[in-house]
Amino acid sequence: MDQCYELTIHDAAEALSEKRISSRELTESCLNRIEATQELGAFLHVDPVGALAQADAADERRGRGETCGPLDGVPLGLKDIFLTRDLPTTCASKMLEGFSAPYDGTAVGRLKAAGMVLLGKLNMDEFAMGSSNEHSAYGRALNPWDRERVPGGSSGGSAVAVAAGSVMGALGTDTGGSIRQPAGLTGIVGLKPTYGRVSRYGVIAFASSLDQVGPMTRDVQDCALMLQAIAGYDPKDSTSVEREVPDYSASLEAGVAGMRLGVPKEYFIDGMDSEVRRAVDAAIESYRSLGAEVVEVSLPHTDHGIATYYLIATAEASSNLARFDGVRYGFRREAEGDGLLDMYSNTRGEGFGFEVKRRIMLGTYALSAGYYDAYYLKAQKVRTLVRQDFESALSGVDAIVTPTSPTVAFRVGENAGDPLAMYLTDVFTVGANLAGLPGLSLPCGFNSDGLPIGLQILGRPWDEATLLRIARAYEREHPWCSRRAEL
Ligand code: GLN
Repeated sequence: MDQCYELTIHDAAEALSEKRISSRELTESCLNRIEATQELGAFLHVDPVGALAQADAADERRGRGETCGPLDGVPLGLKDIFLTRDLPTTCASKMLEGFSAPYDGTAVGRLKAAGMVLLGKLNMDEFAMGSSNEHSAYGRALNPWDRERVPGGSSGGSAVAVAAGSVMGALGTDTGGSIRQPAGLTGIVGLKPTYGRVSRYGVIAFASSLDQVGPMTRDVQDCALMLQAIAGYDPKDSTSVEREVPDYSASLEAGVAGMRLGVPKEYFIDGMDSEVRRAVDAAIESYRSLGAEVVEVSLPHTDHGIATYYLIATAEASSNLARFDGVRYGFRREAEGDGLLDMYSNTRGEGFGFEVKRRIMLGTYALSAGYYDAYYLKAQKVRTLVRQDFESALSGVDAIVTPTSPTVAFRVGENAGDPLAMYLTDVFTVGANLAGLPGLSLPCGFNSDGLPIGLQILGRPWDEATLLRIARAYEREHPWCSRRAEL
């Protein structure tokens, strides 16, 4: 079983419960895989000693018949934006070099309570700002399907680790697409739950009204299992919502016969890669043949999504990142004779990377007295329009189906010098964040160069179960997710 890193979580859980394998074997297999795929840059911190100790504890629990559930003894990874008590948390920034949090965040705590083995912390764009994982202070992560290409971002390391087989699943965060876009570009499944479904407590904030935590996995069943473990009300996050959490695995196999799926006409734009279009069209066709009714819907404010998102996200980021001042966390630059202001500006000038500083400046500008009404307030109004678009489209359909991204994974460096081109890659994902809706990406094929193509499914608030069911119906017919990159 030395290839057991390739198992899905649900297969591993079955093998564990039938005692065909131990958590130690699984964990060792993943640790070897991490070694073997090191050059992909997925990890910022690996914890072999801790992981093996957790694996042994899981095996002991199982031996005593005290197993906690399907994640017990399963090796997972966390985007380095999640605070962890026993491992460093850098958010891929020099600003948090050497920082360790005094506590675990809620989602992490829930995974630990479910028995996960934590392999380590995964690479990302600095402070989750980016769509390519090129903005990490600790080196970029590379796409396992083609190392000259980016894996997407900001949860790039999480996507790479899942796709390469070095973790069985991971947690990411999604502010404007950072779970779905890298999932799409690396051929895995990623879910951004409804805003408020998963606690943000202990997650370093980027844009608090948009950020949401979610699973990144090899298939839809695994996605349901991980969501189950992390979803639900948390009194420590005032934006988390007290609402019943359904059994996400229960309705997975129910199919799509009789469902109505909407296809937004504004999402099939010029400039969309023709192979992406063909794969998404074929997926839509396949939903028809599975018994769903497909109808056209309209999201008329789609064009304004990117501008609105980049105003609100940067405004909130400029405020959230004010806490990194050299006094309380991580990095500090201070020379003999420096006053307080010198210390602040030297710390922030050196500690933050280029893209983060750009966002802080954009956001500060949008919030400044003379420009607040013209930019921030206006963006909030357009946000309402975007939300209303989705509300009215979703009143007539069960879910909306779109491409996850307009192209396949782009080349390393291709968009690096052009922030606008980079921002535009999020055109299909930001809407769900602005509207607070759940969204899932799953693989719907590969292009002629062997690069994965993502299909996005957007749904009504709190209706993750329907998204998972729709995704599973497709996956059962087209198991693209079982294809592995040759490494
Ligand atoms: N790519 C988007 C950005 O750069 C989204 C990031 C995210 O979802 N964290 O802001």
